[in-house]
Amino acid sequence: MNILVINAGSSSLKYQLLNMKDETIMASGLVERIGELTGKMIHKTFPDTKREVKVEQDGEVKDHRAAMHFVVDMVKTAGAVDAIGHRAVHGGDYFKEPILVDDSVKDIIRKTIPLAPLHNPSGLTGVEMAQELIPNTPNVVVFDTAFHQTMPEKAFLYAVPRKLYTELKVRRYGFHGTSHKYVAGKAALLMNKKLEETNVITIHLGNGCSMAAVKNGLCVDTSMGLTPLAGLIMGTRSGDVDPAVLAYVAEQKGLSIQQIDTLLNKDSGLKGICGMNDMRDIHAKADQGDDLARLALDMFSYCIRKYLGAYAVVLGRLDAVVFTAGIGENDDIVRSMILSDLDCLGIELDAGKNMERSRQDRVISTDKSRVQAWVIPTNEEVQIARETVAVLTSMDQDPK
Ligand code: ADP
Repeated sequence: MNILVINAGSSSLKYQLLNMKDETIMASGLVERIGELTGKMIHKTFPDTKREVKVEQDGEVKDHRAAMHFVVDMVKTAGAVDAIGHRAVHGGDYFKEPILVDDSVKDIIRKTIPLAPLHNPSGLTGVEMAQELIPNTPNVVVFDTAFHQTMPEKAFLYAVPRKLYTELKVRRYGFHGTSHKYVAGKAALLMNKKLEETNVITIHLGNGCSMAAVKNGLCVDTSMGLTPLAGLIMGTRSGDVDPAVLAYVAEQKGLSIQQIDTLLNKDSGLKGICGMNDMRDIHAKADQGDDLARLALDMFSYCIRKYLGAYAVVLGRLDAVVFTAGIGENDDIVRSMILSDLDCLGIELDAGKNMERSRQDRVISTDKSRVQAWVIPTNEEVQIARETVAVLTSMDQDPK
């Protein structure tokens, strides 16, 4: 069965065509800067193999509809599509599981647009265009929020007037769920443990950063909130700040709520601290002695350490911590800043293993470390494709 995975972001669209017999990637690609005159499209068949063929095009990609036309045209040259799995950012509290798309599912995604105004419209267009361009083929939506739906009320409610929850659905949802679920599952497998008996803290550090406390395979807490702005310090997002900052800055600077929202989402985080949001640039500057770059590294890792402590207590017993995504997979310095001197948690980092560069799953703790530390490259596309197959199989919905 070939599954086309579509990940439609606010201004980009990533895709992969996977043969689920052995999970090989038949094609993959990316459309960037959608809506700008300087759009870019890259398509590869059999990427990272000897058979790789790459097609690149530059030029205006007017909107997500145009992007989907390009994707479907290119994918058709690589193989048949039996079903489509879509990443959707926000499922509100409607979706605890991935779901086969019908009109009512699309209506609910439309309803949750106010909760994810940048992402859910493009996700919905991706679904509608797939239905139009690849007719009579099942579409499944996998929500970024779904894995976190097992959080108990005490973890997902905010201490604000209850009607904000009952009327406006203001609560913690959490994001990166597909990634947290994938690496938690893989960690259990690699440790030869049953997922239902495994407690891990998963640490996803990319442009967006989040952590999850996973108890017996289920998420019991996560760092992002109503939106992906909360929690850890990120590339351009502030993470946790005193909410009173908003009113104070608005008043002092005469800024609108919208402007403050942009300030916290686009101009804060690592960029706010040192002017750079790419971790590689920050290391280069820190190596040259730049104090603000060093401070950014310090603040970034300190805040993750605080969450580690909190989640270790939430879990009671901890089997492993798992790093993933761009920074988590590649940045040994940040990992060692986070995991050094953690006797209190029973984590002992192996400096040599931590420094090895690899794209494989690997342990970075010593053999005698009570709690293991792992680097597990995330693979949201495979997870979405697997969940798509599982939904179709469980519903006995034969793909085309
Ligand atoms: P996204 O959230 O967009 O999927 P990624 O998971 O690709 O992002 O992560 C992007 C981040 O990973 C950037 O901050 C980038 O600097 C960082 N990164 C990528 N490679 C390295 C590396 N070798 N060392 C340190 N940071 C890296």
